[in-house]
Amino acid sequence: MRPKVIAGNWKMNKDADESVELINGLITRSGEIPNGVTVILCPPFTSLAIAQRLLDGGPMALGGQNMHYEDEGAFTGEISAGMLKSVGCTFVIIGHSERRQIFGETNDAINKKVKKALSAGLRPIICVGETLEERERGVTEQVINVQLKGALQDVSENEVSRAIIAYEPVWAIGTGKNATPEQAADVHNYIRKIIGQFYSWATAERIIIQYGGSVKPENARSLLATDGIDGALVGGACLKPDSFMEIVMAAGS
Ligand code: PEP
Repeated sequence: MRPKVIAGNWKMNKDADESVELINGLITRSGEIPNGVTVILCPPFTSLAIAQRLLDGGPMALGGQNMHYEDEGAFTGEISAGMLKSVGCTFVIIGHSERRQIFGETNDAINKKVKKALSAGLRPIICVGETLEERERGVTEQVINVQLKGALQDVSENEVSRAIIAYEPVWAIGTGKNATPEQAADVHNYIRKIIGQFYSWATAERIIIQYGGSVKPENARSLLATDGIDGALVGGACLKPDSFMEIVMAAGS
């Protein structure tokens, strides 16, 4: 039985004071987190240190939204895996579609980040997903296949078990139009099959596959109750304590 994992991707939202307010709101309700549900907060880099202090000793984990694959050096504006760890991160989102589309992140760069995250002891949340045009062209599986193969090149079976895959159809992100549980389950089953082919069925059975794309309190229960959907990567709905906690609670029911 795989645990459910709910991650909140704050994106470029919440300054330091707003972050404190949101985290305190979540801490107030953290006693309601169901057993067996892992909750990860991914605030902007500027709020990680204060988040670490506020979350210390509590049940919620911390993650970065991105990282560079080098350890240090002349990479203005970048953050390393070691820096994320130094402020308490245990997870990092890698290859979000906004990184791929707006910042031109390639499968090759994503692969380097995944390998660095794993070797540094961080658990990568690897995002994959097709655009609307690709879905309508009927090439969703090919797109996912290329993204997964690219991200997992030279990642060992031992290491890949620590990774989380987030299926995030680009057409569902921030649009209010979520994939149906059936649409999501089809792609999750495909991802699990691919992991089984790359590695083994035992590893495929173990790996956590989240769904992301307009997850809200109203649709969380049906998505999270679907076989093969092991959690959610949440954008807009994670910016308010109540809506995020309702999704967390839906993961436990
Ligand atoms: C995301 O950015 O990962 C995401 C899923 O956003 P939203 O929930 O707002 O669609």
